[in-house]
Amino acid sequence: MRTTLDPKVALVTGASSGIGRATALALSKAGATVAVGGRRTERLTALAQEAPGEMLVLDMDVSDPESVRKAVDTTVERFGTLDIVVNNAGVMLTGPVLGADPTEWTRMVETNLLGSMYTVHSALPHLLRSHGTVVQISSTSGRVSSVGAAVYSATKFGINAFTEALRQEVTEQGVRVVVVEPGFVSTELADHITDPAGRAVAKSMAESMRTLQPEDIAAAVVYAVTQPDHVAVNEILVRPTDQSR
Ligand code: NDP
Repeated sequence: MRTTLDPKVALVTGASSGIGRATALALSKAGATVAVGGRRTERLTALAQEAPGEMLVLDMDVSDPESVRKAVDTTVERFGTLDIVVNNAGVMLTGPVLGADPTEWTRMVETNLLGSMYTVHSALPHLLRSHGTVVQISSTSGRVSSVGAAVYSATKFGINAFTEALRQEVTEQGVRVVVVEPGFVSTELADHITDPAGRAVAKSMAESMRTLQPEDIAAAVVYAVTQPDHVAVNEILVRPTDQSR
């Protein structure tokens, strides 16, 4: 049966959990062939077994430009093209600026910001050929900065800035670029916070509202990438109804 995204080829970074995992599954259900990247490859292998369509597992560390280049090359060698890239891999190591461990800042910048730039850099020649789509998973923190999220927000503001320039560079060549900005989504993201106050804030936020589920963001991505070629959805902000900021 021919489905909406058949025969498109998608690459999703950070697909071993949360939003990336749900997005990879949703794209597969919509008919795409999906390459899934991340460091926990055993989880990716389990995901590939669950997917309705073909899935290629990629051992990929987005903070390493060589690893990114290999992942993109492997995808194109295997499937002959690349139509959709979902730059999703990210870490959120929140906490106050005073007393922060700067190695956590480096990790956030290298993963969230440089990682998505490396992926765009490697994928762009292929996307120009296929008239493909770049999906950048940013955040409400890419629009509003708040206490405890200075560096995380800086990476997401950076993604939004990079993405708008990229959009202007490539849209007339037929490559569509979309920023997706989720509010609070129930995932493993906050489990990695080392600052006790930062963890407590995330926990109390989760308990105070009906949070989004990863599938809610996956649905937004599928919406953006299934538009007709002449329609470029450039920005999607999705908050839980119960989240005011
Ligand atoms: P998860 O922690 O569930 O998923 C994060 C994913 O990123 C994992 O699959 C992880 O895979 C991957 N990842 C982390 N570091 C690297 C790396 N160096 N190389 C490759 N992959 C990496 O969190 P979410 O699903 O919530 O987060 C996904 C994206 O959504 C992030 O960019 C996040 O900032 C954004 N977001 C999340 C929100 C939320 O409330 N949850 C709100 C707004 C935005 P592995 O460890 O296997 O490498």
